[in-house]
Amino acid sequence: MVIDAHVHADQYENRVDAIVEIEREHIKTVAVSMDLSSYREICSMADLTSMIIPGLGVHPWISHRFLDRLDEIDDQINGAQLIGEVGLDRLWAPKEYFETQRPVFEYFCRKSLRYDKLMNIHTKDAEAEVLEILRASHIERSIIHWYSGPEDLIKEYLAIGSCFTLSVDILRSTTSDGISSLIPLDRVLLETDNPGGCSWLYERAGIPCDIKEVYRRAAKLYGLPLDEFESVIEQNWLRITSQKS
Ligand SMILES: [Zn+2]
Repeated sequence: MVIDAHVHADQYENRVDAIVEIEREHIKTVAVSMDLSSYREICSMADLTSMIIPGLGVHPWISHRFLDRLDEIDDQINGAQLIGEVGLDRLWAPKEYFETQRPVFEYFCRKSLRYDKLMNIHTKDAEAEVLEILRASHIERSIIHWYSGPEDLIKEYLAIGSCFTLSVDILRSTTSDGISSLIPLDRVLLETDNPGGCSWLYERAGIPCDIKEVYRRAAKLYGLPLDEFESVIEQNWLRITSQKS
């Protein structure tokens, strides 16, 4: 089994085809949501396959729409398998909404602690601020999704128990090689950010099987045979999902 630790499953153009591929190829799919309606769509996909694990979150690009509606999340959050996608974005989000991101993210941190939910976190150009919030919130386990921030903060995230994902950019560039060399083998997970990750980088929509290519490349980066590397990633996943904070 392979694990894709960050996917926008509801954004697959053909969801049925995606589910068939996920099942056929045994791809455990961590399906993060953009908001509540996206979460509901993902849950309806998860009703059709146990390979999809739905996450409930409000993406920092749209957190301004939810600042006054967090009570709607309250009813759902304890039933969610994990929290995500949540976090901060100081690069791609609309600037006028920057200040609404933090209280929404802090809300999810409080819920993560209260209900012991793993968080899947976006940190774009806000890596130090996210770290500070996680520390202040006493979050002891989290997945830092597609990290591209300062290398010196990686050890600080590791010190608070975070795992990191490597994503599809490792397939064609070496820009993430420095980051991967700083992430210990027992703290790495892999993802595609499908279907948008490939669209953004390679001008084609991602498909579930893309994660297999990410595994092959990452196994080379870590110098392990593919089957051995797959079982290490599975152990990492089991560890971070079963840990109690
Ligand atoms: Zn995402």
